Amino acid sequence: MPVNTPYWWDAIERETDAQPEFNSEYDAVVVGAGLTGSSAARTLAKNGASVLVLDAEAPGHGASTRNGGMVGEGHRVPLQVMAARYGMDTARDLLRETYMEPLGFVKNLIQEENLDCDFKTHGRFRGMWNKAEYDATAQSLDELREIAPMNVEMISPEKMKAEVNTNMYAGGLLIHDHGGLHPGKYLSSMVDAARRAGATVCGNTPVSGVKATGSGFEVMTDRGPVRAGSVLMATNGYTKKSFSWLKRRIFPVTVYVIATEELPPELIEELMPGGRMVVETRHRHCYYRQSPDGKRIILGARAGLSEIPFAKAQKILHGLLAEIFPKLKNVGISHCWRGNTGFSFSFLPHLGQQEGVWHAMGFSGSGNGMAPYLGNKAALNMLGVQGRETSFTKTTLETKFWHRGWPWFLPIAHALYRVVDIRENMRHLK
Ligand SMILES: Cc1cc2nc3c(=O)[nH]c(=O)nc-3n(C[C@H](O)[C@H](O)[C@H](O)COP(=O)(O)OP(=O)(O)OC[C@H]3O[C@@H](n4cnc5c(N)ncnc54)[C@H](O)[C@@H]3O)c2cc1C
Repeated sequence: MPVNTPYWWDAIERETDAQPEFNSEYDAVVVGAGLTGSSAARTLAKNGASVLVLDAEAPGHGASTRNGGMVGEGHRVPLQVMAARYGMDTARDLLRETYMEPLGFVKNLIQEENLDCDFKTHGRFRGMWNKAEYDATAQSLDELREIAPMNVEMISPEKMKAEVNTNMYAGGLLIHDHGGLHPGKYLSSMVDAARRAGATVCGNTPVSGVKATGSGFEVMTDRGPVRAGSVLMATNGYTKKSFSWLKRRIFPVTVYVIATEELPPELIEELMPGGRMVVETRHRHCYYRQSPDGKRIILGARAGLSEIPFAKAQKILHGLLAEIFPKLKNVGISHCWRGNTGFSFSFLPHLGQQEGVWHAMGFSGSGNGMAPYLGNKAALNMLGVQGRETSFTKTTLETKFWHRGWPWFLPIAHALYRVVDIRENMRHLK
């Protein structure tokens, strides 16, 4: 039986018991010790602020140590849709910033802080589900390069097998600059960097509320209140119902991931000769990669949008893996786990304030680059210093009148996606 904890947790020591003492007053309190919170804390502390980071569980309990480890952002929202919402100038800024800034930021951060996280610029292969998508992507490449100068190339179906050896795609797009890393090590080393800068990071301390006081805020915990000059909410897909304003605006989409048992090196080389991070254009959103040691294949996908039994999720994901690589039909699965990604209704991240409390969230499915990047921007805004500008203060964090905080609509959305899956399967490779 596979274990139901992330493969990444095998390589790190989680601070399940650690509860360092903390003071009763700080310049800044950050709620959530994931990539967003630890990056924000590092920047705040480096700028001389006293900082406390509180997490309800072990630091890194959320998506940051559960994800696929792919680095490099793409856009989930087409340029024209963004332009209709925010105007063409902002839409182009959002697109350029999404593609260019977070990746550059984390590459620098990894180098500057010497983060031990198995980062490598593997390149990302985006498999096209059908020929029409391949042609449309090829035609839009020049426009994309003009907005965000990136090292990208189309890979024809004939050349594809040197990247990923499957019959599933009508060719693909190769983004050379994107990378991959080990999410467990990444988060742990990011927390270490925040601590080195002077922040106190404390797990197992849920925050139950934040109240404005005359000169700042009172942060409520079961270990007593803490006074703070400013507060950042960095809870994304793990936001609790006591923060109802955010809970109505960020909904948790559950994603499942499997890791195979160790496979023969020649089999991995045969199936994934390019060593790329692979994503797809179909709405099943399969993404897969080799583990950093090159011994396993790790695959995530939409199994259900909310929680389903692990056994069912594993069966669905293993089935998808075997469709992509028939030779993996009978391999063992060592790990099957899940995590919550925080989606906004605009499908775009947002940095803003509600009643004086800052929030940075809504990464909508990605975040290894964007979460630390926006955490850093949040910190610079809290400090009011140079470099704080970002287009993501212009996105919106709207709610829907029918969403009161419990995402009852996700099973329905999943059922609708199943119809999309059927239609997509009918147009496969056409
Ligand atoms: C399965 C999966 C696969 C993914 N794959 C990729 C990928 O390959 N590439 C990529 O770029 N992105 C990926 N993502 C998305 C990415 O992991 C997230 O966007 C990113 O980690 C968000 O970081 P965060 O710090 O904002 O939130 P999180 O890491 O989720 O941290 C939030 C923290 O807040 C804490 N918290 C919540 N409420 C409270 C409270 N009241 N008091 C104290 N603490 C609280 C939680 O315990 C949690 O630790 C994936 C996500 C998932 C779930």
